[in-house]
Amino acid sequence: MGDTFIPLTDLRRSLRPLPVPDQDIAPDGPLVDRLGRPLRDLRISVTDRCNFRCSYCMPKEVFDKSHVFLPHSALLSFEEITRTARMFVAQGVRKLRLTGGEPLLRKNLERLIEMLAALRTPEGQPLDITLTTNGSLLARKARALKDAGLQRVTVSLDALDDAIFRRMNDVDFPVADVLRGIEQAQAVGLAPIKVNMVVKRGTNDHELLPMARHFRHSGIVLRFIEYMDVGATNGWRMDEVLPSAQVIETLQRAHPLQAIDPQAEGETAERWRYADGGGEIGVISSVTQAFCHQCNRARLSTEGKLFLCLFASAGHDLRTLLRGDASDLQIAAAIAAIWRQRSDRYSELRGAAGTPSPTGERRVEMHYIGG
Ligand code: SAM
Repeated sequence: MGDTFIPLTDLRRSLRPLPVPDQDIAPDGPLVDRLGRPLRDLRISVTDRCNFRCSYCMPKEVFDKSHVFLPHSALLSFEEITRTARMFVAQGVRKLRLTGGEPLLRKNLERLIEMLAALRTPEGQPLDITLTTNGSLLARKARALKDAGLQRVTVSLDALDDAIFRRMNDVDFPVADVLRGIEQAQAVGLAPIKVNMVVKRGTNDHELLPMARHFRHSGIVLRFIEYMDVGATNGWRMDEVLPSAQVIETLQRAHPLQAIDPQAEGETAERWRYADGGGEIGVISSVTQAFCHQCNRARLSTEGKLFLCLFASAGHDLRTLLRGDASDLQIAAAIAAIWRQRSDRYSELRGAAGTPSPTGERRVEMHYIGG
């Protein structure tokens, strides 16, 4: 054992009330925050549990047998999630991403997908509904997810080398089973599929080219994510971050790349295509090039807290409103009020790129807010 010290921070204790207006106020046009950023994307964490113990996300030393996960009664029900999503859609949200924890561990998730797939934008259009998964249960569930109305999936996979992958997920899960999940998702038409690889220098950086080679010409978009500080739980160190610029340099040498212009507003990945037509890749530079200036997403935690920034240290208590007697219009007005007040909290908290925050307030707890 090394002498790494991992202080514990439990985000679930920090809570901000969400003030409710006295009267119903109907949404009045697109919602933008103080920096003019619209609300477009809602990430919904459906469980705080995961069957993996990735060292960068839910390390075993912290999430062990003594860790207390949320009781079922604390979780938002499917009805509560759908009601919340409907209010967000009325205010401009067009994309819903289910995440966790491992979302496929939530019982009857297909039912929730059916309920969300029935929602329509004010213009009568269906929403873009997707899900981020570690892929462990995907082979079994892909067909049911597709039939329920899921359009596409993002699968996390950090290495092709079985030994490295087993070490990184820390539950000895084989890479072949995730690859089978990806194949099955492709077979049922959950497309386009994206694969997320978190790159940790010294751990899986030599897997960049094998991963790139494997997914070239497959129609699957591989995205390389800079290893982030997810709070006080993963023992994050800047020297373990491989900057995206170096990822691109390494790939360029083997397979020439051309930059692609961003397509959607608020896109987090910088996109590149292989010059020989081998497809597309992306890099997500959360550490070296934060993208807060175009952030258009809100996050709903498993127990109904609303986070307006991945790096916020406390969430707004939506669940109390959902379980009280506030009307949809009142809750929507409460959400609108805090979105309008939203500023660039991430920069405030983060300090200079890659250095610890002066306040020590860098708490993300990905398993709880969702990635
Ligand atoms: N269990 C699902 C999965 O594995 O995709 C969904 C939840 S996971 C928290 C969502 C995404 O966050 C994954 O792609 C994961 O790799 C990413 N992630 C988790 N911890 C991270 C970290 N420290 N830095 C960068 N990305 C991270």
